[in-house]
Amino acid sequence: MAINDVAHLNGTSTGHSGPAPEEDTMPPALLHRSLRQQPYKVNSAKGLYLTLSNGRVIMDACGGAAVASIGHGNEEVLQAIQQQMSTGVSYIHSLTYTCDAAEDLAHHLIDGPQGAGRFGLERAYFVNSGSEAMDAALKLARQYWFEQGQMNRTQLVARKQSYHGTTIGAMNVSSNLPRKVPFACYQLGNVSWVSPAYTYQYSKWQEGETEEHFAERLVEELDQHLQDLGPENVIAFLAEPLVGATSGCTPAPKGYFKGIRKVCDKYSILLILDEIMSGMGRTGTQFAFEQEDIVPDMVTIGKGLGGGYSPVAGVLVHKKVIDVLRKGTSSFNHGHTYQAHPVACAGTLAVQKILRRDGLIENCAKMGQFVYPLLIKTFGQAKYVGNIRGRGLFWGIEFVQDKATRTPFPPAVRFGVRLQEAAFNLGVAIYPGSATVDGTKGDHVILSPPYNVTEDELRQIVAIMKQAYDGLEKEVDEAGSDLPK
Ligand SMILES: *Cc1c(COP(=O)(O)O)cnc(C)c1O
Repeated sequence: MAINDVAHLNGTSTGHSGPAPEEDTMPPALLHRSLRQQPYKVNSAKGLYLTLSNGRVIMDACGGAAVASIGHGNEEVLQAIQQQMSTGVSYIHSLTYTCDAAEDLAHHLIDGPQGAGRFGLERAYFVNSGSEAMDAALKLARQYWFEQGQMNRTQLVARKQSYHGTTIGAMNVSSNLPRKVPFACYQLGNVSWVSPAYTYQYSKWQEGETEEHFAERLVEELDQHLQDLGPENVIAFLAEPLVGATSGCTPAPKGYFKGIRKVCDKYSILLILDEIMSGMGRTGTQFAFEQEDIVPDMVTIGKGLGGGYSPVAGVLVHKKVIDVLRKGTSSFNHGHTYQAHPVACAGTLAVQKILRRDGLIENCAKMGQFVYPLLIKTFGQAKYVGNIRGRGLFWGIEFVQDKATRTPFPPAVRFGVRLQEAAFNLGVAIYPGSATVDGTKGDHVILSPPYNVTEDELRQIVAIMKQAYDGLEKEVDEAGSDLPK
């Protein structure tokens, strides 16, 4: 794949059709994702709304990349951050010091009736991005075996059509192909991938395969794959409970994760769940894994954790892993200058307290029950809408050229990106995705508003999305045989 072919697939396109903002005549000093297209400048934000420098107001129906969990510009979070800074403790080195903000955030996430402690997840490790959280989890997983003298455990198994981050470590376990061009030379040899748990495109639906049978087939595939590698050589299996940006809010088929957990246990392989996009309430429960009725050995969190107020992410680690450390070296051989950053932790704690106090995760579940039937009613019969899936306030719409065969559009049609552009021009921001199906073909958009979005706002958002879709459907139909192949 040439890099120009993938610029529109991997987020290096700014995803908008607008001209460069008119007021900036000087070339930027900032290296943007694209050298060709300036992103829009945002001057202020409040709740669901962004105000651009050109005066336009945009409804942020995707919270960036499913980040804004409580909306923008929250005064309480501002105060918590100010309060932390007013103590003078904005930075301390974690080798020597700790602070209330970091300790309290960890307690908030681990302890109490709603904490992760009820699943045996007993420690929280805070970093600055989801990719760093994945790197930390990968290193801790290796150290877990190292401490037990199992030096031969070097293999990592993940899934195709997954994304775990952008650093070299996290990229290595990802298989979001467009985002890996041109970095194949950095690929480690100890990573392999099994099939995605993506029912709409990967089940044998033509043969009437049920979700349950599809799940069984995938679980068997993993079992066989581990046997081929020699399970005694494997560190961990990694998966997103709902696949985020790569294929668009794809939940696994029923029974899949229960089966996966069993296989991991059978060979004592660690299970690392990446809930950076799908966790922290986004699917209507604190963790996405709760709805699968399993417990991971580590779970990574990010995005909605800080809700966009701080660059923050984390790893929650099961007692089983901590116990091995305890009996061994008693120290995780990893660290960042800015880990558990006091100001980031204070802002994040405020976000998490608001979510809990205001019952926003419950509201997320409730709004999910409202918006799913609305999406089905609005888009279910649409000519190019193949599949609508998700949970809570995390919905993906997948577009296909032919519904009967589930055949995606040729990538050059840019269906998903064009829909996102059309909706944006009508004042609604949604998150586009391409290469949905297999890393080259396919289109989807993601709807992931803050958890305090209202029914009225959802009605407006979906109506505008439909208006954008109708326009695009017409354009595509009119292009007819002129449509790019
Ligand atoms: C966003 C994301 C990451 C990477 O997080 P960054 O904060 O962008 O480094 C990892 N995994 C998943 C599932 C994500 O959605």
